[in-house]
Amino acid sequence: MADPTSKLEMERSALLQKLAATGDMRRGSITECYRRCGKATCACSAADHPGHGPYYAFTTKVDGKTKTLQLRPGPLLTKMEREVETYRDFRGTCDKLIKVNEAICVARPVDASGQEKKRHSPTSSNARSLPRSKLS
Ligand SMILES: [Zn+2]
Repeated sequence: MADPTSKLEMERSALLQKLAATGDMRRGSITECYRRCGKATCACSAADHPGHGPYYAFTTKVDGKTKTLQLRPGPLLTKMEREVETYRDFRGTCDKLIKVNEAICVARPVDASGQEKKRHSPTSSNARSLPRSKLS
């Protein structure tokens, strides 16, 4: 009795609700990096030294060009990490939403659109208004 698509539709509603609740987000990624200063006398010249840091870099593409913003640990870095994370979640939710929708498309019976029902309907005046009637 239960509609095979109802579970998928509930899943879709949940994903749409999650998308609606999306907060501030931005595309890009934040990487942690360490650098060697190049001075032979510095401790970082040792092979097992990771280099100075950590430094943080926010990288994003603007009009096809890669833009990098150097960041120090602090409130701005924390804020941007949250915004980038929100974007990653958003994209993940979008992918799931597309997959659920495609599953709904596959599961949805053809006659759910009402065309089959209208064909069997006793009122033929309704059927005449359908574009499909031109084929017959
Ligand atoms: Zn150094």
